[in-house]
Amino acid sequence: IEQEGQVRGVITDKGEYKAPNVILAPGRIGANWVASVAQKHGINLSQRGIEVGIRVEVHNDIMDDLCNVIYDPTFFIQTNTYDDQTRTFCTNQGGFISLENYKDFVCVNGHAYSGKKSSNTNFAFLSKVILTEPVTDNQAYGESIGQLATIIGGGKPILQRFGDLKRGRRSTWNRIHKGYIEPTMTNVVCGDIAMALPERILTNLIEGLETLNCVVPGVSNDETLLYAPEIKFFATQVETNNYLETSIKGMYVAGDGPGVAGNIVSAAATGLIPAKRIIELQ
Ligand SMILES: Cc1cc2nc3c(=O)[nH]c(=O)nc-3n(C[C@H](O)[C@H](O)[C@H](O)COP(=O)(O)OP(=O)(O)OC[C@H]3O[C@@H](n4cnc5c(N)ncnc54)[C@H](O)[C@@H]3O)c2cc1C
Repeated sequence: IEQEGQVRGVITDKGEYKAPNVILAPGRIGANWVASVAQKHGINLSQRGIEVGIRVEVHNDIMDDLCNVIYDPTFFIQTNTYDDQTRTFCTNQGGFISLENYKDFVCVNGHAYSGKKSSNTNFAFLSKVILTEPVTDNQAYGESIGQLATIIGGGKPILQRFGDLKRGRRSTWNRIHKGYIEPTMTNVVCGDIAMALPERILTNLIEGLETLNCVVPGVSNDETLLYAPEIKFFATQVETNNYLETSIKGMYVAGDGPGVAGNIVSAAATGLIPAKRIIELQ
């Protein structure tokens, strides 16, 4: 509820609540709703782009030295050919690859249990895509890549060894079993990721992984397993001041939904910023 540029409260299924300050934090599932609220009230939105890539799986031996010091290390790598940004994200030591089922396509993700460990470590390796004028529909571009990859994978994610990808040949179960990494996800199709991802993204991933090998020796070994596609869709970002307050006084945003965060830590941090500000102004 807004009156003369000031928030007055919220309307919910359970009733109407009056409040001089409101924090909108509905998560990714509420991203479209936040965008519609912003549009309705004339708050500016900007595109955050998407990240497209693969889930990399190596033996724990390759990552233990690093993960025993930092549980979830993030490396940003600028690639040579395209000067694009790639990064590692969501590392799971002793973890498992998982399926992410969208309506029209499948993606991969990764997770780890506290009490059950595999012999492998996985992490997302992603290439950033921000489309600029006149075509800015990053979401549709990401979905098209997801759909193409799902066609090539016959409805399942694609699994390929890094060595096969570099040699321009598809992987087979026979080739996968030659390596000493046991895949933690087997409901996949062994194939050729080069048939599924755009050349620019693929080049970024290959160059990026080879650069990462300089700090994580062995990560770009031939037997390293790659699962595709992994796609991170980000919400459009709602314009705010430094306290995450929108142009409507007292209306703050936090978390993934309004596009001001992208992971657990930043989502929590963006909740604290407006909370502290509201207390300060009491
Ligand atoms: C499969 C997966 C793996 C991930 N792995 C990692 C990881 O390893 N590391 C990492 O840092 N991040 C990871 N993330 C991202 C992380 O989960 C999010 O960045 C974070 O949870 C965002 O926090 P949030 O508070 O913005 O949203 P959320 O955690 O989504 O919370 C928003 C809440 O609002 C509720 N809500 C929405 N609309 C309404 C409504 N109308 N009425 C009532 N309630 C509503 C939702 O149900 C939800 O409970 C992962 C995400 C996914 C999906």
